[in-house]
Amino acid sequence: MESIKAIARRTPIGPHGPSHDAQKVARQAFKDAMDHLAAAYRHELTTEAIRVYWHALKDVSEPLQHEGMARCAQTLKFFPTVAELRTACADIVDERRALAARSAKALQEDCPDCHGSGLRDVEGPNTVVRCRCVKRALELIAEAGEPLKRPALPAWDGEHA
Ligand SMILES: [Zn+2]
Repeated sequence: MESIKAIARRTPIGPHGPSHDAQKVARQAFKDAMDHLAAAYRHELTTEAIRVYWHALKDVSEPLQHEGMARCAQTLKFFPTVAELRTACADIVDERRALAARSAKALQEDCPDCHGSGLRDVEGPNTVVRCRCVKRALELIAEAGEPLKRPALPAWDGEHA
């Protein structure tokens, strides 16, 4: 007879099962991407180093991690530090939010209901209400993603070291 422990070991369903697996998959994807980046720089990357990068970036979505790595590869002469990689991810989110804010502003300015005032006249006791375009504008910016916390120390500037 198989022990319950043995069954539990090969059944990843339970309070820690699926989420634990998802984290494992995310971690492996991160490691693979970091290995690619290291290969592009001919940089020696230890398991310990990958762990440090992972901890610094684990709150960043997987696509954004990859975009940050790609940006570093395009803009940095040397393999990015943890701070540089996190800064690249934060920059990407900020650029997206700025772009969304511009779209949101244009959307409100062109709004046929309020002509940019954000307020709309209606019949009834409350004769002025918030226009629908205000909510849509806020949604547009929210969809661009939450701003990332930036590293405590400025990214190391190789030029002036
Ligand atoms: Zn409007």
